[in-house]
Amino acid sequence: MNLQLSPADARFRDEVRSFLESTLDDGLRRGADRCGSVFQDYATNIRWHRILHRKGWIAPSWPERFGGPGWSVVQRYIFQAECASAGAPALAPMGLGMCGPVLMGYGTTEQQSTYLPRILSGEDYWCQGYSEPGSGSDLASLGLRAARDGDDYILNGTKIWTTHAQHANRMFLLVRTATSGRPQAGISFLLLDMDTPGISVEPIIFSSGDHEVNTVFFESVRVPVTNRVGEENDGWTVAKYLLEFERGGGGAARLEALLARIRRMAAATDASGSALLNEPDFRRRLDAAAINLDAVRMSEFRILSALSQGGNPGPASSILKTSTAALNQHLTELALEVAGIWALPHQPEAREPTATATPVGPEAALTATARYLNTRAVSIAGGTDEVQRNIVAKLVLGL
Ligand SMILES: Cc1cc2nc3c(=O)[nH]c(=O)nc-3n(C[C@H](O)[C@H](O)[C@H](O)COP(=O)(O)OP(=O)(O)OC[C@H]3O[C@@H](n4cnc5c(N)ncnc54)[C@H](O)[C@@H]3O)c2cc1C
Repeated sequence: MNLQLSPADARFRDEVRSFLESTLDDGLRRGADRCGSVFQDYATNIRWHRILHRKGWIAPSWPERFGGPGWSVVQRYIFQAECASAGAPALAPMGLGMCGPVLMGYGTTEQQSTYLPRILSGEDYWCQGYSEPGSGSDLASLGLRAARDGDDYILNGTKIWTTHAQHANRMFLLVRTATSGRPQAGISFLLLDMDTPGISVEPIIFSSGDHEVNTVFFESVRVPVTNRVGEENDGWTVAKYLLEFERGGGGAARLEALLARIRRMAAATDASGSALLNEPDFRRRLDAAAINLDAVRMSEFRILSALSQGGNPGPASSILKTSTAALNQHLTELALEVAGIWALPHQPEAREPTATATPVGPEAALTATARYLNTRAVSIAGGTDEVQRNIVAKLVLGL
């Protein structure tokens, strides 16, 4: 693999850099910097989304015919890396990275022309309704019932851990349309409007104080049959395809930015004039993390390369999912160590992007505890580590 930038790619990098310099204002930078979660707050996310949409750069991995910019794999990586190192806000993946690819792969022409432009513009904000109480890893056991009534399905049941359901105006979800035979064979994939009568959203608050996930209740919710993606009872095929994209990476550039931030924090000297960065044990752990980061980046390149040849991420995306999660968690532990006593004050109000109060302690330490707590979930959300390892054992290693 040639990792040197060609002159054309170097010019592209410079173009991205100058665009970021001119567009990332204080509000966007502060929103990204003070975010204690892997998910950006809605207001900052949507502002940044619309700016990128106007520029035509909102969906780097989408084919041109659906509104992508027609970039090469290298250009996509450059864009991600430059955004991360410039401190740009993260974008929500549910529309651009999950529902979009599914509609391109399995949606009807009408579904594609209705929903894809609205994902690009930010007009629609999606949430993912897969998990239910009692059906997470064993997703095929899900029980939210969709009973056919003429041209509609009538939905009754509960979804849980639904990220940003409080902001979303649309949900893609898995429902049970048949109860006989293998559980996988009775699932269908639907799209719905969150303002349909009968839907209620209740918050679940994290230990960091953040409201990111929800329980969503369905009571006789009517969804048109035309909102089904794929055939009735064939939703499992669609669901698995989507999960490959959910686990397909894109995180190495952000982890690199986090590592750089930790190095900067650790280089600061204390009252006695010493810096954590000069301690051999801490330095060794930072260097080990940098080596792991190289491994994650290479796995990500392999997936990007498969995508560029028209493939999909495949089961190898599970390797990337576990290794990215482990490194992400480790880095937030190192950040906590560097923050030291300044990780202790609980000041969620100071993390609000619009907060004007001066935080207690250094600004760089403000998010250390929230990120540490939030990142415990990355080895669970999108499929637990144990489940990913089972997939790797079976489908990658053939054990
Ligand atoms: C922060 C966060 C955000 C989320 N966002 C969403 C969302 O937007 N939409 C959505 O649909 N879901 C979401 N989820 C749900 C997530 O996908 C599930 O939590 C996950 O799939 C695990 O399911 P579970 O919580 O039911 O745990 P369980 O499946 O009950 O697992 C419990 C434990 O048993 C282990 N285990 C289970 N089965 C096996 C097995 N076969 N072999 C070995 N070990 C096993 C697991 O690894 C785990 O350690 C989110 C979760 C979190 C934490």
